[in-house]
Amino acid sequence: MRLSRYFMPILKENPKEAEIVSHRLMLRAGMIRQQSQGIYSWLPLGKRVLDKVNAIIREEQNRAGAIELSMPTLQSAELWQESGRYDAYGKEMLRIKDRQERPMLYGPTNEEMVTDIFRSSVKSYKDLPLNLYHIQLKFRDEIRPRFGTMRSREFMMKDAYSFDLTREGAEHSYNKMFAAYLRTFDRLGLRAIPMRADTGPIGGNLSHEFIILADTGESEVFCHKDFVGFDIPGESTDFDSVEGLKAIFDKWTSLYAATSEMHDEAAFHAVPEGERLSARGIEVGHIFYFGTKYSEPMGAKVQGPDGKEHFVHMGSYGIGPTRLVPAIIEASHDDNGIIWPASVAPFDIVVINMKAGDQACDDTCELIYAALTKAGKDVLYDDTDDRAGTKFATADLIGVPVQIIAGPRAVANGEVEVKDRKTGARETMTIEAAINRFVA
Ligand code: ATP
Ligand code: MG
Repeated sequence: MRLSRYFMPILKENPKEAEIVSHRLMLRAGMIRQQSQGIYSWLPLGKRVLDKVNAIIREEQNRAGAIELSMPTLQSAELWQESGRYDAYGKEMLRIKDRQERPMLYGPTNEEMVTDIFRSSVKSYKDLPLNLYHIQLKFRDEIRPRFGTMRSREFMMKDAYSFDLTREGAEHSYNKMFAAYLRTFDRLGLRAIPMRADTGPIGGNLSHEFIILADTGESEVFCHKDFVGFDIPGESTDFDSVEGLKAIFDKWTSLYAATSEMHDEAAFHAVPEGERLSARGIEVGHIFYFGTKYSEPMGAKVQGPDGKEHFVHMGSYGIGPTRLVPAIIEASHDDNGIIWPASVAPFDIVVINMKAGDQACDDTCELIYAALTKAGKDVLYDDTDDRAGTKFATADLIGVPVQIIAGPRAVANGEVEVKDRKTGARETMTIEAAINRFVA
């Protein structure tokens, strides 16, 4: 991508409305724009990051055996009347009428709809277990939307729903998502700690929130320090192994970890003082087992091996991609801007032409840009005629992991500079060496 032809509206000034660093940096880097309160457009740079986050979420959901579909944002009120939640949900639900005066709503979540899909075609235990997910916009009319896309009214959610014949089966489905979440957040460069959680309006009996520690987090959390160093389940994790996944779950729930709603001061004080961690956190994922809460009122049942009908045991599993993007920034930035983990960076490399219009600089940059693009890298080429200082500031602000800098003096020697955004380390090398480093 040539910056001169891209759309990346950088802000020079710090936006006044932004209270936390991620919101400030997302606005300054031209990643998002607020359209109305708590409703955002994702501008091209932000969209690239969001897509990469979603791709990782999708890979790990698929690896754990979940199956992707797509359900609509607008839902009919009827379904929600069946579960009893149409009245129970309250003001967070945006209620709409269509031209026939039929009550509709913009989905805040999809338990009812997915249960309807399930009951319409699954009739036998032989078709279980089943886990269906989508990555879709939700709307919750939050009282206090704030911090940009961290807490917005319209936001994206990956929501998965599992169906099993028995409670034991449902627990295995829960453990699959539990392990998938550990892997997902790790690949996003985050350390998320599963904490016992209140089951809230969705209801149920087994629930964990995945929390990232951050000073700007809205939740108060308490946990054992050792979680910070725990091993993440590897790529070869066998998601069909009931014992294997149970062992992962048991390990990751063996020490104290709770949000303030579930906090037990006495249990926390049983942890030796030096190992207690009391901090603030951001909830990036939430998983629930809620048994037959929806399957009973909505009549979602299957024939069991005993020939009888059984209401299915369900769970639901959410991750917030549009919250994850600012959460990643909260965890990874410095005074100059964002520092993206390579896995979600909007571009892999930025090529900075310090003197656009200078033949040697132009030729060198074009050569590098073409070679790296051909090698499958996402390259941003700053070919604008801005001052070098402005270009450096922009490159640092948008947080691309590697900068290749071509200035007239180095280029005259057949060289360029390679800068690591995270460490700030700079290395001068031949043009060929710079290309080879990233093509290999
Ligand atoms: P919170 O406690 O932060 O209000 P929640 O518990 O209501 O969130 P869930 O129903 O558990 O949210 O939703 C699953 C995930 O969706 C959350 O873990 C979070 O990542 C994301 N999410 C929920 N509400 C929002 C929001 N208003 N803006 C952005 N992401 C959200
Ligand atoms: Mg939650």
